[in-house]
Amino acid sequence: MKRVQDAKIDMYEQLPVPYGLVRFGVAPDHPEVKNCQQTFSEVAQSPRFTYIGNIRIGHDLPLTTLKPHYDALIFAYGASEDRRLLIPGEDLCGVYSAREFVGWYNGLPQFANLQPELELGEQAVVIGQGNVALDVARILLSPVEALRKTDITEEALERLERSKVKSVKVVGRRGPLQAAFTVKEVRELMKIPSVGFTPIDSSFYPADKSVKLPRVQQRISDVLRKGSLSAPESSPKNWALQFLLSPKAMNPSENSPEYLSSIDFTKTAFAPDADTLSKEAKVIPTEETTTIKASLAFRSVGYKSTPLPGLTDLEIPFDTKLGIIPNDAYGRVMTPITNEGLGARHIPGIYCAGWVKRGPTGVIASTMEDAFATADIVAKDWEESVPFLNSHSQPSNSTSTRQGWDALKTDVIKKGIRPVSWDDWKVIDAVECERGRSKGKEREKIRDVGEMLGVLDA
Ligand SMILES: Cc1cc2nc3c(=O)[nH]c(=O)nc-3n(C[C@H](O)[C@H](O)[C@H](O)COP(=O)(O)OP(=O)(O)OC[C@H]3O[C@@H](n4cnc5c(N)ncnc54)[C@H](O)[C@@H]3O)c2cc1C
Repeated sequence: MKRVQDAKIDMYEQLPVPYGLVRFGVAPDHPEVKNCQQTFSEVAQSPRFTYIGNIRIGHDLPLTTLKPHYDALIFAYGASEDRRLLIPGEDLCGVYSAREFVGWYNGLPQFANLQPELELGEQAVVIGQGNVALDVARILLSPVEALRKTDITEEALERLERSKVKSVKVVGRRGPLQAAFTVKEVRELMKIPSVGFTPIDSSFYPADKSVKLPRVQQRISDVLRKGSLSAPESSPKNWALQFLLSPKAMNPSENSPEYLSSIDFTKTAFAPDADTLSKEAKVIPTEETTTIKASLAFRSVGYKSTPLPGLTDLEIPFDTKLGIIPNDAYGRVMTPITNEGLGARHIPGIYCAGWVKRGPTGVIASTMEDAFATADIVAKDWEESVPFLNSHSQPSNSTSTRQGWDALKTDVIKKGIRPVSWDDWKVIDAVECERGRSKGKEREKIRDVGEMLGVLDA
């Protein structure tokens, strides 16, 4: 909107409520991270911006129906699946994906009925060593009192209060200097009162203390060396980072075979030619295995984007291996290189941004950066009158006659779908804040789509 005078943007969201993973991913005890919602609300005030919630693109509204009414389509639908470990026992009771657990405590309607069984036992294992894994560990170990004022759901508070978990092991295939977590998240866990940290084997750090590590790794190893505020021996709860372990099988309990009791890991070792101090150091499996007792396990090995139904109708490719829509890194969606060796070309008017553009990694700041890059490239293409959607070979992009949502609204409503406007969202927002206020919380999220729509038409 800043770069193209008179540009109008319609933003479709499958849920009635906005903000994606900022609402349903970012941990409830990180409210400062959610400040970007404010910027978003400011954008939404523009008369040139229309928020259309409760419309699932590709399902409620096929892409072929959208196409004639826009000059450009920008895909920014994130990553709504997770990677699996593909090992035996992964579906035992007590095994959850971090995505469903995080979605559950954050009130994502899809996981409102997850009912994680946190009272199954004292030992939990998180597989994966990124920030999401540390979020899961922190929520499991934090005193419930510390979460009470956040926007975590009431049901999550109740279940966490009854939780028996006392020990959380966060396990990764490589070493501490290769882990994906950041220093802020490790430090937060170290500071939880009454939670101890099991020290890491010193062989993971350079024996010669004068060896300088890259800045980020140096800070992480300093925090890990320093350890927790609470001494592990005398702490009622503990956490540990375990390295060089690759999950092999999840084992059922003898007494209740549908439930998890332990996890087998293959021990890994740094590849012979690996620089063990490098972030990129590779590991290889060894013949040795080890078993960790656990009644709860959370796999946290990454989110995954999937192709939107109907992409192929617009001849838009999807790279299932990388889980992205192929693009030129600026955000222009590109065709594959042909069998005849012809180069990739930009599909006119089709762009992408966010996790579906570059894969499910990176924080809000990096997602914003690449969203800005995409917006810049749309603006540049527009200024240069390259062909857009429906413009065929006659670029004439200085003015647009496309009607967007105005042309689609009536038919969508006729189908029985209730679109949610920004003003509608404000009504849901006010109800949530009101419900939260009575409990001393910032908000109590509504976890059911029917109920969200119900408060609008009450
Ligand atoms: C558990 C977790 C914790 C995180 N914590 C932090 C943190 O503390 N700090 C930080 O900076 N970053 C954090 N991040 C990263 C941050 O959330 C992401 O970088 C960012 O949200 C990615 O933005 P996106 O727009 O690509 O995807 P999303 O935020 O997922 O937005 C995509 C939107 O598209 C919608 N959608 C999907 N399919 C359709 C469809 N068919 N039709 C219509 N709409 C659709 C989804 O409902 C969603 O609202 C965290 C991520 C996770 C998973």
